[in-house]
Amino acid sequence: MAKIPVGVLGATGMVGQNYIALLNNHPWFEVRFVAASPRSAGKKYAQAVAGRWQLAETYAPHVGEIMVEDANDVSRAAAAQKREDCAFVFSALEMGKAEILALEDAYAAAGIPVISNASANRWTADVPVLIGEINPHHADIIPAQRKARGWDRGFIAVKPNCSIQSYMTPLHALAQAGYPAQRLIVTTMQAVSGAGYPGVPSLDIIDNVVPYIGGEEEKTENEPLKIFGTIADGVIQNAALPKISAACNRVPVTDGHTACVNLEFAGKKPSIDEIKEIWTSFRALPQELDLPTAPKQPIIYREEDNRPQPRKDRDLDKAMAVVAGRLRPCNVFDIRFTALSHNTVRGAAGGGILNAELLKHKGYLA
Ligand code: NAP
Repeated sequence: MAKIPVGVLGATGMVGQNYIALLNNHPWFEVRFVAASPRSAGKKYAQAVAGRWQLAETYAPHVGEIMVEDANDVSRAAAAQKREDCAFVFSALEMGKAEILALEDAYAAAGIPVISNASANRWTADVPVLIGEINPHHADIIPAQRKARGWDRGFIAVKPNCSIQSYMTPLHALAQAGYPAQRLIVTTMQAVSGAGYPGVPSLDIIDNVVPYIGGEEEKTENEPLKIFGTIADGVIQNAALPKISAACNRVPVTDGHTACVNLEFAGKKPSIDEIKEIWTSFRALPQELDLPTAPKQPIIYREEDNRPQPRKDRDLDKAMAVVAGRLRPCNVFDIRFTALSHNTVRGAAGGGILNAELLKHKGYLA
């Protein structure tokens, strides 16, 4: 099968570099277009990331030779699409919300599908916020989105915030088994790579915990409701539950966001053993389709008292698995547990690539 040529917007940043590394030797997609800020535009990719490449894996030699374009100039991607170098783009731009909204719209209007990591469009009512294992059916809003905007090929699909990835799949698995959650208290411990590169100043985070990440608690409390929502009248209508209270903290960990969750069920309550069985046997559409980036086992449960830990567990199953542990009764709610996911892979580039694989399977990236 000929590979689909793809572009990466924000290719020089923390998430963009992860896209470039994860797409190296991808069986379906090949990077042929890269774009970033005007600071990087006009340089070869190798030159643009020299001295700021963050990963152990490197980029494909052909990517190092690609000239970085200015992501603000949509005509460059449109020209690349015309010469069959950019069927769609992954967007990992860090810019103001209004600028991202305008730019993602402009790409989609130009006929270039946008699979985005930015938060700007997560609250656009006809834009799906996809987690492959939870709401792949939300992709089916794309025809209504295209019709409402007058777009033929283009569309926008986004990924949720990286801090919610670790416990959303466990919650969904429980709901599927007949045990939806009613209320949650979530305390996150989020890695510094979540702030991009160069990110949090070292003197703020070494030997320290910062109990505030701007906008993160609101995203953590609200995005799950859209993901658990339903499509009606051409928009996604939010679920009413679960009600979430979040406290988000930045901690001196490089990669891997951890969440401590206290959960109250809406109705009947499963036993601790039943929950472990539900989690470890959970499989969903990405596993059924055996998509290239899908983890074989989406939720891994660690029985040890002192796991999951970011350094030891974040890379399990291509860094795409959620790793849960410390499941026990809660003195206030019903249960409590700890969950971990790799923020720049599962929570960003890997999740975006999995979304693209799903969207291709559904025929939206033909
Ligand atoms: P980052 O490391 O700061 O990278 C930002 C990228 O955007 C760089 O490629 C940068 O290009 C480009 N850029 C900045 N200003 C621009 C402008 N005015 N015009 C065009 N391009 C511009 O940020 P990141 O952590 O990779 O995050 C990227 C996006 O993913 C953000 O929207 C973030 O919220 C989201 N996200 C991040 C994570 C995570 O764990 N880091 C997880 C989920 C979602 P230059 O290199 O040329 O400056």
